[in-house]
Amino acid sequence: MTAWLQQSVPILYLISAVLFILGLKGLTKVRTARRGNATAAVAMLLAVVATLLEIGVVDYRWIIAGAVVGGLIGAVAALRVEMTAMPELVALFNGFGGGASALVALAILWAAIVEPSRPGTPASVLSGSNALTAFLSVLIGTVTLSGSVIAFAKLSGKLRGRPGWLAARNVINSTASLVAVALGLYLTFGAATPEGVAASAIALAAVGLVFGILLVLPIGGADMPVVISLLNSFSGVAAAATGFVLNNNLLIISGALVGASGLILTQVMCKAMNRTLGHVLFADFGDTDLEGGDTEYRNVRSFSAEEAAMVLEDAESVVVVPGYGLAVAQAQHTVREMADLLTAQGIRVSYAIHPVAGRMPGHMNVLLAEADVPYELLLEMDTINPEFKTTDVVLVVGANDVVNPAAESDPASPIYGMPILKVAEGRSVFVIKRSLSAGYAGIKNTLFELDNTMMLFGDAKKVLQDLVKELKELAA
Ligand code: NDP
Repeated sequence: MTAWLQQSVPILYLISAVLFILGLKGLTKVRTARRGNATAAVAMLLAVVATLLEIGVVDYRWIIAGAVVGGLIGAVAALRVEMTAMPELVALFNGFGGGASALVALAILWAAIVEPSRPGTPASVLSGSNALTAFLSVLIGTVTLSGSVIAFAKLSGKLRGRPGWLAARNVINSTASLVAVALGLYLTFGAATPEGVAASAIALAAVGLVFGILLVLPIGGADMPVVISLLNSFSGVAAAATGFVLNNNLLIISGALVGASGLILTQVMCKAMNRTLGHVLFADFGDTDLEGGDTEYRNVRSFSAEEAAMVLEDAESVVVVPGYGLAVAQAQHTVREMADLLTAQGIRVSYAIHPVAGRMPGHMNVLLAEADVPYELLLEMDTINPEFKTTDVVLVVGANDVVNPAAESDPASPIYGMPILKVAEGRSVFVIKRSLSAGYAGIKNTLFELDNTMMLFGDAKKVLQDLVKELKELAA
């Protein structure tokens, strides 16, 4: 490699690190999110180019083959995935990140000790700190991989919580973590033969995989947002640890960015659900298999689109509350069309965004941005909650758990304590959903029985289309 190419590597790394930070900054606002994503993608491309230059690769065949196969799988997955299945995809990609970090760390151990059959512990061959970070990378990476696969299976409804063995979970998990640490320390400082290193590294990876499964399996549906953010953070920490093993500063920086932002998101999600991380990981809450309890509905009143349109037309203020059903119905464009009609008649329309509405952080923001809803109209929970009292019509579109008053009024409810959008305080509340079925937490919603609540049964897109038609007729 020519000298100037060699010298350009640190500069490329620096530019890439700065672009990663700018990309993250862009992702903090709906308006700049697309640009942020593109900036981070350019940063990643630069990082790959700089790394290839740095290690002076002579044979690109495997690298190109890997890039083509990985790129194709990623592109097909991203193009074909339904918007509603995006959280599952994100969970799976987190897992792949963790798995990749663990594989790289294992490859380093193999290349340094196992393959050349070199005697000595990883700490003596690689240096103590590199060997320790290799251990952490294998452990955190494998926990992230299997934990994410379980999260994927849970989110896609292929797997449900198993409350039966919850009582034993803390004992099992404490034992698994102790075994993992003991194995990791043995791998780092104790295993002095190539065979010993290979065996303890494989055993550590296996324990990590089992630990990831045990950690996520008993965590119930309502806590899934927190788990996804935490696994996201883990994948970053695993990558940063691998960065230490490889002595690659950019991987350390980018891994730390993912780890820290994932942790901040975890904290935001915990706050949004009034939970502590300890509760999520070690207490028996949020299981999707909530059965029993009162599931009968009384005093449910339903409205036709025509009746609802008449009330809407007379309103001065309307707050739309989107939820997971909006994503299922792909009704974001129709909701925007309806809001435009109302706005044209001088009615104030805004949108109330609950942090865990939908199935991934920011799900509602993404959907509404897709329909070009002005982002100033999206109001966060703390801003909009005091406004409901003076709102004429609250239009709940496919939301359920995030508007359930039981979270405030029923200490026995599994979601008790989770902050909700206080839609029940609105003068009239219209709820669009197909039936009285439960939401993600699997529990009854007392909102549907209140005197000021009217149900508009049907697919959200169809009901909104009917509303648009009626509003147009009324305006004509
Ligand atoms: P919910 O899951 O509580 O409820 C969604 C409602 O949408 C259902 O009751 C369903 O009722 C209705 N629905 C489904 N399809 C349609 C359709 N085509 N048209 C109209 N309605 C439809 O959603 P929320 O957004 O209120 O709450 C999110 C839940 O998901 C919370 O419990 C949260 O903890 C959890 N979660 C959130 C994650 C996140 O990061 N945001 C990640 C994982 C879980 P019906 O069948 O009667 O139509």
